[in-house]
Order: sequence, then C-alpha cells, then structure tokens
Amino acid sequence: MRIWLSRPHMSGREKVYVDQAFDSNFVAPLGPQLDAFEAAVSDYLGGNLHCVGLSSGSAALHLALRLVGVEAGDEVWISSMTFAGGIFPVLYLGARPVFFDLDPASWTVDVGLLGEALAKAAAAGKLPKAIVPTDLYGQSVDLDPLEALAAEYGVRLVVDSAESLGASYRNGRKCGTGGDASILSFNGNKIITTSGGGMLVTRSKEIADGARFLSTQARDPAPHYEHSTFGYNYRLSNICAAIGIGQMEVLDDRVATRRAINHRYRTALDHPGIAFMPEPAGYHSSQWLTAITVDAGQAGISREDIRLMLMDQQIESRPLWKPMHMQPLFSGTRYIGSGVDEALFANGLCLPSGSDMSHDEQGEVIDRIKACLAAA
Ligand SMILES: *Cc1c(COP(=O)(O)O)cnc(C)c1O
Repeated sequence: MRIWLSRPHMSGREKVYVDQAFDSNFVAPLGPQLDAFEAAVSDYLGGNLHCVGLSSGSAALHLALRLVGVEAGDEVWISSMTFAGGIFPVLYLGARPVFFDLDPASWTVDVGLLGEALAKAAAAGKLPKAIVPTDLYGQSVDLDPLEALAAEYGVRLVVDSAESLGASYRNGRKCGTGGDASILSFNGNKIITTSGGGMLVTRSKEIADGARFLSTQARDPAPHYEHSTFGYNYRLSNICAAIGIGQMEVLDDRVATRRAINHRYRTALDHPGIAFMPEPAGYHSSQWLTAITVDAGQAGISREDIRLMLMDQQIESRPLWKPMHMQPLFSGTRYIGSGVDEALFANGLCLPSGSDMSHDEQGEVIDRIKACLAAA
C-alpha cells in the first residue's frame, strides 16, 4: 500500500521519553514513564480519574468486565458492530454476549432498543450483568441515557472508548470518562499509539486498585509470592508508556487533522448516493476513521467498486466492522435489532484517515473516487 487507512504518527518527542526510560533502566512494566503517561491521560480527560496502563485495549476490557462482576454464564449486552477485541473478553470470562443494533442517527448503539429490552428483562427477572456500548469510529455513544438506564436497572456499564480518545460527548464531556469504567486502546492504528497498549479509566478507586492487582499476577501483600486469586500479566511496559507521553502532547493536533480530513472528504464527495457517518449536534467526534456509505442505486457504483479501485492504486480502504451477530463464531447468538448495522456493513467503507496523510495524498484519494463516480 502507498496510502494507508491509519498509520502510527509520531510527534518526534517520543524518543526523548524512551531515552529517559532507558537511561534510568526502567525497562519494565513499571516506572516513572508509566506513572507520567497515566497522569497525562487522566489530566486530559479532566482529572479526578484513575487510569491504569495495560498491554492492550482488549486486556483493559477483560479486567473491567471481571472487576464489575461479570462471571461465567452472565449476559453482557454489547454493540454488534465492533472490533473483535471489543467482544472476545466477554468469552474469556465465559459470559454470554447479546448483540444490539445501531441507531441510524448516530451509528452508535440504539438506546431505545436497549431500554425496551432492559424493561422486558427486568420484568422476567433476567437482567444482564453489564452493558458494553461501543464508541464507533471516534464518535461517542449517547452516554446520558445509557448511564441513566444502567442506574435505573442496577446494571454495570463499561464503555468501549478504544476508538474515541480525543473526542467528546455533549457539553464537552470527554470520551473515555463514561460508565463504571471505560477502556482505551493505543494499538498502532488508533488515533495515538504506544505501538500496543490500552488503559482502564474509572472514577472507582476499588476498580482501579483491582486492575493494578490483577494486571500484575494478583500478588497478595507478602514477602514471598502469595495468591488468593488468579491474575494476568497485563501491565503496560514502561517503554511503551514513554511513547505514549510523546503522543499525548499531540493528541489534540491529531484530532484536528482527522477532523479536517473528514471535512475535506465531505465537501469534495458531496454526490448522490454517498453519505457520511452522521455526527449528532453537540458531539465532537475524533473522526478516527472517515466512514461513508455507498448507495449503488443512486451512485451507479457500489462500495466494492470503490474499494477495489482504490486497492488497485495501492490505497487502503476497508468495509465497516462486520457485525458480530453475522460472524461464524457467533452464529445462533441473540441479536436485538432490525439490521441497521447489516446494511452499514453491506454498503459502508472506511476511507484513508491517517493524520500523517499529506494534502496531496488526500487529494489523490478524492480524485480517484470522483473519477470512479463520474465514470459510472
Ligand atoms: C482497537 C479496539 C479494541 C481493542 O484494542 P486492542 O488494543 O487492539 O486490544 C477494542 N474495541 C474496539 C472498538 C477497538 O476498535
């Protein structure tokens, strides 16, 4: 590929912090860089939050679900349109997912559907243990009613904000601050990266302490190794955290760039049959990936026509996440919805959105899609 969907984009300062970690020999899953990275994320999100650096977003979700009490056999209600790392941890715990459709007005979980299903489940005495809504492509879920529902029914809420660091919900509330806990990812394709990494963010000291404990092999206080439960080796490396410090310094710039790229696509590709992911009023998406739908009847060409044409030019684009209820792994799993997500998967495409794309590269993607549309 010449032009990628989303590549790591260093600020140049990361090496300074990595060198500091080397110079002090903190080449370990602890150290001053890890503390500083956690503090930087906490400050960014508005302070007053516990942030625990972990080896991945999936690890963060695994710990968050275990710490809010999800156990084998429990139900976890979750957005169907998500990435594997946002769902597999449910299986690690032996819990059972139930998948939910999206709201066409936001492409995030349909809160109305969720509310109806909760009312029915409460009447039947079969409430889920936790709800896991997913911020999609940089856009927040509708957090206020989700938090209200969770409180009303006594269900735990874990928000998957792996794709939305740098974005905000209504009234400027930052993504990554929702629910009992939120999870972030710093994988290589995310808006900022530590090469690989994740974070659990919570207002609960108990959950944060639990995450620090479980992520370092559940060592009880004792001079020898003492264990009253099992843990994981999930702590973020201090070296990776050093990269994260440099990345946090440019997070807002990265968001501004991705939003500018999204705006340029929207303006240039204003064409019958091409629609963009909606951004509800008051939301501020990070536009991690610009996502469009292609109505082949109106546009004269399909999503696949565009994707394959771009691939021919060594330009990476990708269909939206394949909904989990359509995955072979989850055949037969309960799905509540009307297929809004199925239609988005059938016709949706993520365009190259990396903040390191040059102005000319953005122009080339636009020109090639325009030419494809004009030839239809
Ligand atoms: C990237 C991602 C994850 C997992 O994060 P990793 O750091 O790759 O484990 C989880 N959920 C969603 C929605 C993601 O996009």
